[in-house]
Amino acid sequence: MTLLDQSTALHRPMVRGDLPGPGSAALLARQDSRESNARVYGRHFPIAVEEASGSFVRDVDGNVFIDFLTGAGVLSLGHSHPELVEVAAEQLGRFCHGLDLPSPAKDAFTTAQLSMLPEGMRDRMRVHFCGPTGANAVDAALKLCKTATGRGDVVAFSGGFHGTTHAAMAVTGVVATKAPVANGMPGVHVFPYSHCSDCPLDLRRDTCSTNCIALLERALQDPHGGIVRPAAVLVELVQGEGGVVPATLDFVRRLRSLTRELDVPLVVDEVQTGCGRTGTWFAFEQYGIEPDVIVASKALSGIGQPVSIILYDERLDVWAPGAHTGTFRGNQVAFAAGARAVEIVRRDDVLGNVRARSEQVRRRLEVLRSHPWVRDVRGCGLMWGIELADPATGARAGELAGRVQGRALRRGLIVELGGRDDCVVRLLPPLNVTADVVDTACDILIEALATP
Ligand code: PMP
Repeated sequence: MTLLDQSTALHRPMVRGDLPGPGSAALLARQDSRESNARVYGRHFPIAVEEASGSFVRDVDGNVFIDFLTGAGVLSLGHSHPELVEVAAEQLGRFCHGLDLPSPAKDAFTTAQLSMLPEGMRDRMRVHFCGPTGANAVDAALKLCKTATGRGDVVAFSGGFHGTTHAAMAVTGVVATKAPVANGMPGVHVFPYSHCSDCPLDLRRDTCSTNCIALLERALQDPHGGIVRPAAVLVELVQGEGGVVPATLDFVRRLRSLTRELDVPLVVDEVQTGCGRTGTWFAFEQYGIEPDVIVASKALSGIGQPVSIILYDERLDVWAPGAHTGTFRGNQVAFAAGARAVEIVRRDDVLGNVRARSEQVRRRLEVLRSHPWVRDVRGCGLMWGIELADPATGARAGELAGRVQGRALRRGLIVELGGRDDCVVRLLPPLNVTADVVDTACDILIEALATP
C-alpha cells in the first residue's frame, strides 16, 4: 500500500517500535560506511525515506511522520503536489536542460516571478538565473554588487546564514564551519542583528532604542569608524537557521534608510523567507521597504526541483556577459513547476492559509510561554521557533532541544533545530498544511516539551 492510499485513511502520524526500524537501520548503516562524515540529517532523524506526500513522510519500515521540515523549507506545497508532479512530468518529456537559453517554460517562470513583486518593482527588476543553490545565488548577488559599485567590502549580521560555499560561508555567522577552512573571503564586517531575546549588546527590549542598528549607522558614517563604504549590506529579514529571528521593524527601516543614504545596495536573502513562507510572497513586503537585490531559491519550484535566482534593480545591471555562468541554470522542470506553483498559490489563496495557520500555531504554542525552559516563542507566517534556555543560568539549552526533537520524532513529527547551540526548535510546515495537521503537530510538540 502506498502512502497516498494510506494517507486517505490515516491523515496522521504513526510510529511503531523503536527508531530506526530495521529497514532504516540497514540503509543508515550503508550510508555511514560509504558517505561523507559531513552528512547531517540522518544523525537527527534516524530514518530512511520510502515515499512522501503532502505533509507526510513514510519511512521504509512503514512509520509515518508529519514533516515540518519539508526539505528545509523547499516543499512549499508539500511533498509531490499532484499538479506539480503532472506539469513536471510533462516538461521532463519535452525539454529538461537549457543553459540560459530562452524557452516557453523559462519565460512563464520569469513572468510568474516578476508578477509576484510589489507593483512598483516589477518593471525595474532584472532576473539572473544562478547555479541552482541558495549559496550560489548569494555569491552572484555579492559579485553583482561588487562589480556595480567597484567596492569590495560587505556588511553581514551575526546569526545570519547564507550557505556553505566559500563566499556564502564568509558572510554567515556560524563560526564552527568557518574555523577549519583557512583564507575565507576577506572584507566581511559582521554587525549585531536585532535578536532581542538574546541581545548581542546585552540590552533590554523595554529600554532599547534599537542600538544594534545605531551601531552600524555610527560605524558607516564615522570618518574614523575604520570601515570603507561597502559594496553591499546583506541581511535575512527573518533569520532562519539562526533560530527564527524576525528583524524588528525599526532595524530594517533604518537599515534601508542608511544604505540608501550611503548608496550601498541592500541585498535581502529571501532563500528561506521567500515564496510565501512568511505570509507575503517576500518578507521585505512586511517591512514597507524595497531592497536593491533579492536572493531567492528553495521554494521557487514548489516541488524541490533546484533553481535559484537573484532579482535586482536594473541600475546594477552592469556586469558583462558570462559574469556569473554555471551549467545548471536552466532547469526547465523547475521552471514549469514553479510557474504552476505561483498559479496554485494565487488560486488556492495559499498566502491566506499561511496567515491563518500562523495564527493557529501562535495560539496553540501560547501555552509554552509559561514553560520554565522556554525563553521565547516567535514566528512569522509558517516559520516558527521555540527558544530553550536553562531557567537557572540563562544558558542556551541545546541538549534539551535535541531531546525534544528526538521525542517529537518518536511521536511522529519531524522538526528541525537552529540558532546558537541548536537551542531553537523550528517549525517549517508546507504552506498549504491543513488545520488538522497543525493541531496534531502542536499536540506532539507540546507533549515532547512536557518533560524537561
Ligand atoms: N540563505 C538562507 C537564508 C538559507 O536558509 C540557506 C539554506 N538554509 C541558504 C542561503 C543556502 O542555500 P543552499 O543550501 O541551497 O545553498
